[in-house]
Amino acid sequence: MTLQSSHLSVDISTLMPLRREKIEKYRKQLQSRRDALAEDLHLATLQLIQDESVYTDSMDQAAAETDKTFALRMKNRERDALFQIDKAIRRLGDGSFGKCQRCAEPISEARIDAFPFTTLCIDCKVELESEEHRFSGRH
Ligand SMILES: [Zn+2]
Repeated sequence: MTLQSSHLSVDISTLMPLRREKIEKYRKQLQSRRDALAEDLHLATLQLIQDESVYTDSMDQAAAETDKTFALRMKNRERDALFQIDKAIRRLGDGSFGKCQRCAEPISEARIDAFPFTTLCIDCKVELESEEHRFSGRH
């Protein structure tokens, strides 16, 4: 693997492997995020169970259904986020965290700070998105 610094204006420090304390920082971040999500998910589940018994009035039925659909969608999103966080924590363990899964180049720390469970560097992300755009926009 070569550092293509000739056309990439990237700070060399972002290309260094993540240091131990950084990894610990991300692990803590991810774990507290995971705990908060698990708590939310638990509450959302309780809410859904309660809703079953509370909304017996047909007037409220439609509103209740909308709430329930929303709660379910939130729940799925949170469950998906939990899954992503679990995978990120596993990647911290096996040393693949912070590496792009597509091109194997390090992901910049700024990007990891913004999206702790991202698996793609910004270049690949942009490339994939423009590919999707190209495919969907084909005549
Ligand atoms: Zn990449």
